Amino acid sequence: MAIRFFNTYSRKIEELAPRDLKSRKIEIYTCGPTVYSRAHVGNFRAYIFEDLLQRHLEARGFKIHRVMNITDVDDKTIRGAREAKVPLQKFTQQFKDAFFQDADSLRIKRADDYPAATDQRYIDTMVSMIDVLISKGLAYQADDKSVYYRINKFPNYGKLAHFNLDELRSTGRVKHDDYDKEHIGEFALWKSWDEEDGDAKWDSPWGPGRPGWHIECSAMATALLGDQIDIHCGGVDNIFPHHEAEIAQTEGVTGKQFVRMWLHCAHLLVDGQKMAKSLGNFYTVPDVLEKSYTGRELRYALIRVNYRTQLNFTWDGMKEARESLGRIDDWLERLGEVAGGKIDSSKLDSKFGHEFDDALDDDLNISAALGFLFETIRETNRAMDENKLDAKAAAASLNWWSRINQVLDFESDGAALPEEVKKLAKARAQARLAKDFRKSDELRDKLNALGWEARDTKNGQKITRRAGA
Ligand SMILES: [Zn+2]
Repeated sequence: MAIRFFNTYSRKIEELAPRDLKSRKIEIYTCGPTVYSRAHVGNFRAYIFEDLLQRHLEARGFKIHRVMNITDVDDKTIRGAREAKVPLQKFTQQFKDAFFQDADSLRIKRADDYPAATDQRYIDTMVSMIDVLISKGLAYQADDKSVYYRINKFPNYGKLAHFNLDELRSTGRVKHDDYDKEHIGEFALWKSWDEEDGDAKWDSPWGPGRPGWHIECSAMATALLGDQIDIHCGGVDNIFPHHEAEIAQTEGVTGKQFVRMWLHCAHLLVDGQKMAKSLGNFYTVPDVLEKSYTGRELRYALIRVNYRTQLNFTWDGMKEARESLGRIDDWLERLGEVAGGKIDSSKLDSKFGHEFDDALDDDLNISAALGFLFETIRETNRAMDENKLDAKAAAASLNWWSRINQVLDFESDGAALPEEVKKLAKARAQARLAKDFRKSDELRDKLNALGWEARDTKNGQKITRRAGA
């Protein structure tokens, strides 16, 4: 069956129809981090959804060119730099570095390009796009010297956000990058410099100033991917005003349809509530890692719910993620033992076929895909319990796994146990063999105190990182 996604623009499930079918190339633009603070787990939920999208399309034989921008100049970054009393570039660099560090620990595949809005190349593109918009009467310079977009001159303005176009009226000008649906207005393309902007200043035909947030993405997307792109992603909170503005700007300049498919990731809740610093439920990736979870476990917790459904992040959910990955690890170990490592599994076909991939074809139905994985684990474990799985079948299962793991990236990196933990684990295994359970419990407590957990399974003792409190 064809690959299909929910397109926010049409509000319909549509078949993926790339512009360049022959070469199987797909261009994807994903709105990246605004580097004014460390990204939180909700941001990373969207980035993990985009990672899953890319990996699945690659598994289906497409060549992906993905661009993710870095917003390093906008209202928030300028405010942050001013408050920290450091130059803008120095202020944003720390959060750029942190973003890549966190993305790596979540095993998010790198995009092909990470353009930064402050790169002079893209500032030049922004200026020339604004110039065209003014020449077409879609933008104008106001008496405050800033340049604004005339939204009522763009026939499709509001279509992505599904506003009632007949009733749509501008409520005046908006200079801020972010505003709600109650304040639809002529948004800023170029903001004239004022003292509060500090060193965030570039020359332009309209005087010194800086770009608005929205024109940054239009410029970087078209500069790197061309006037038309296949897929554009972001979080639902990007739909308005950001993506609505991107369409108005880009199509206003090119006169062509900018994006074929708009995919948006739903919000992440924490314990059923919106994440907010004031509620004390605001977590970054390091916050989760500090509770002795791994990036792999957080990746599992953030990927396992379909991107269009709200995901409720809880510490119980993190424990479940650890247990699920533990089941995968145990299964792989057993399969490895049965396969015996002698068979070249790359030549074997698995009887599991393509159900996993078919589920992802269906608007990235990850719950069905994982359901199929765990059903397969149950089946093969049962066969191994009954000694009914031969080496060849085990190797075929491993082969199937290595294929789907290209998409999931769940496999343990086999992080070596610290020496002290190894010693305690060995002593505990011996104590259990000698049926000295008191000693075995003591050693378990010692392992716990060091942050490790000993589990007794059919295949002996397993040592894993202990879940946080
Ligand atoms: Zn963007």
